Amino acid sequence: MHKSGFVNIIGNPNVGKSTLMNAFVGEKLSIITSKAQTTRHRIFGIVSGEDFQVVFSDTPGIIKPQYALQSSMMDFVKSAFEDADILLYMVEVGEKELKDEAFFQRINQLKVPVLLLLNKVDQTQQAQLEEQVAYWKEKVPKAEIFPISALHHFQTEVVFNRILELLPEGPAFFPKDQLTDKPERFFVNEIIREKILLQYQKEIPYSVEVETETFVDSDTILHLRTVIMVERESQKGIIIGHKGEALKKVGIAARADLEKFFGKQVHLELFVKVNKDWRSNARQLRRFGYDLK
Ligand code: GDP
Ligand code: MG
Repeated sequence: MHKSGFVNIIGNPNVGKSTLMNAFVGEKLSIITSKAQTTRHRIFGIVSGEDFQVVFSDTPGIIKPQYALQSSMMDFVKSAFEDADILLYMVEVGEKELKDEAFFQRINQLKVPVLLLLNKVDQTQQAQLEEQVAYWKEKVPKAEIFPISALHHFQTEVVFNRILELLPEGPAFFPKDQLTDKPERFFVNEIIREKILLQYQKEIPYSVEVETETFVDSDTILHLRTVIMVERESQKGIIIGHKGEALKKVGIAARADLEKFFGKQVHLELFVKVNKDWRSNARQLRRFGYDLK
């Protein structure tokens, strides 16, 4: 018998959803930072075995949308509710329910199994942990609760084994050696965006979109030409920095990760362009892979 299904991870920003998916897949597919809204798209992470295939999806954290990009991000979250065979609802220790109450109610009404993952237990005391488990048991009666640490891989295997038990019977959706649904270029853009998130302050990272225009893979070296899009001229100056130093740092950090990800030498050219109001412009958002209705 072969089992397969979609296992969707939802929860507030920053609770550790991307960390968990990467732990399951064993690759750094989703970028991770301590900043909210790091994950903008829905990303599949595929784990296959002889007789199973689990398609995890990592989603942006749940927020109240303020501009078109954020609405599109929330559409990814909604779609994660709709096609799940199993839902992983992740919370972190000390947290009390989702910021958007409507999402929270939907969890209790779901027909599919819900595993509530209480993450970051490495940061808690035993007494507090027990109190938290009791709290969530009452809040989400239908969920099975697992205290875990995604970062330290504590109890993540237990969760994975439970997923395999709950997985419905069915054929594989993707070739068994495929890790994700996203093209390689997507990961180039994401890795560069991660470095920008880490390096710049305030609103800069949220005003940025990254697009790889050239992706040429020769056997020994990968040639990349990537544009960093900002909304305003002033942001362009900040990204580039004095004598180009800031942008150079982004390039160096990104290249190191890209070489690890692709397992080969990478030649990376970075450019900065002003693209006014890309976050609010539907046509632009579609170009960057955000589905809008
Ligand atoms: P997401 O926004 O839900 O996808 O969260 P991320 O996976 O990007 O993680 C947010 C932050 O929490 C990062 O700094 C992670 O390193 C950290 N984090 C994730 N899991 C754990 C954990 O089990 N323990 C601790 N201490 N930190 C964690
Ligand atoms: Mg994330």
